[in-house]
Amino acid sequence: MERGYRGHSPYPCVKRGGGGSGESEGSSIPSEVRLLQPFDYIKPKSLEEASRFLAAHAAEARLFQGGTDLLIRIEGKFIRPRYVVDVKNLDGMREIVYNENGLTIGAAATMNQVADSPVVQQHYTILAESAATVGSYQLRNRATLGGNLCNASPAADTAPALLVLEAEAIIFGPRGRRTVPLAEFFIGPGKTVLEPGEILTSVHVPLPPSGSAGRYLKLGRTRIGDIAVIGVAVLGYPYRANPSGTAWRIALGAVAPTPIRAPRAEAVLAEATDEAAVEAAALAAMETARPIDDIRASAAYRRAMVRALTRRGVNEILSVLTARDREG
Ligand SMILES: Cc1cc2nc3c(=O)[nH]c(=O)nc-3n(C[C@H](O)[C@H](O)[C@H](O)COP(=O)(O)OP(=O)(O)OC[C@H]3O[C@@H](n4cnc5c(N)ncnc54)[C@H](O)[C@@H]3O)c2cc1C
Repeated sequence: MERGYRGHSPYPCVKRGGGGSGESEGSSIPSEVRLLQPFDYIKPKSLEEASRFLAAHAAEARLFQGGTDLLIRIEGKFIRPRYVVDVKNLDGMREIVYNENGLTIGAAATMNQVADSPVVQQHYTILAESAATVGSYQLRNRATLGGNLCNASPAADTAPALLVLEAEAIIFGPRGRRTVPLAEFFIGPGKTVLEPGEILTSVHVPLPPSGSAGRYLKLGRTRIGDIAVIGVAVLGYPYRANPSGTAWRIALGAVAPTPIRAPRAEAVLAEATDEAAVEAAALAAMETARPIDDIRASAAYRRAMVRALTRRGVNEILSVLTARDREG
């Protein structure tokens, strides 16, 4: 296990302000530059070592991958970890593997890796699309898929896409490996089922349903670079057993304490997909949402936008399925 020096963060994250100008006494650091509070940077050589360390220091250690959430929380003094444990370079943590069982993405794969992966683009378009909406290109070079999920923001962009793809979290911990459906992974804002010493190692996504098409629609305050005001993921596919001949999965982000599925909307579309049914499904999705008022939007606006984006997403998928049907 390697340890970085204790003192300042290895990242020159600085903050303006601090009530002064010029240089601090006895220091070459200008006083308007405030460094992160000190922590020890720990670089374990294996998952076992990382897990043991995390379990032994549960209250004072935090996992670190891209740091785009973690360092901001440290800098804002929301958390004060004594140890920051970097696992992103451990074996397999950045791999993207596709085979007959589906897709496995290492937790430390970056958003750009996911968005640009040919297999993700070809077979899991909705996931590539959602990863590409995260922040800016520069941010996506650091921000990881695992960090996005473990940070457990209700607005995490990849979560709705992974929910409709029925992904699973692969976790390593003191008692070995376990698999948790992503639908059970989030338990509240900033909270997951991860126990002390547990590490998300990868995300497994089963093969998508045959003939499926998916769309992730994100509404932010700006066209790019902002956290979602709401996010709607829609996946539809031919399914003869349903009266509508189709089956649907719809998930919503930023409208509840965790990303959620919208089962009532899905059920409406299993019955019919005419204009009235699409409207009823959009309304059902809106009623499933339990948004709050916050700095980004009011709850009422979020509800209205869930309805609008669900309608739009379902109509777009219907067009794709209908066109494919015509082509035979
Ligand atoms: C300017 C800016 C714009 C952003 N825009 C968006 C956006 O549009 N959409 C969006 O969804 N997010 C956005 N984010 C948030 C952030 O970039 C993403 O959530 C990102 O994917 C986090 O990944 P990371 O590797 O940086 O996580 P880190 O900061 O390294 O970690 C995040 C959390 O997960 C924990 N963690 C990390 N890895 C693991 C692991 N393997 N096992 C268990 N726990 C782990 C950490 O301890 C920490 O609590 C933005 C952030 C910034 C600063």
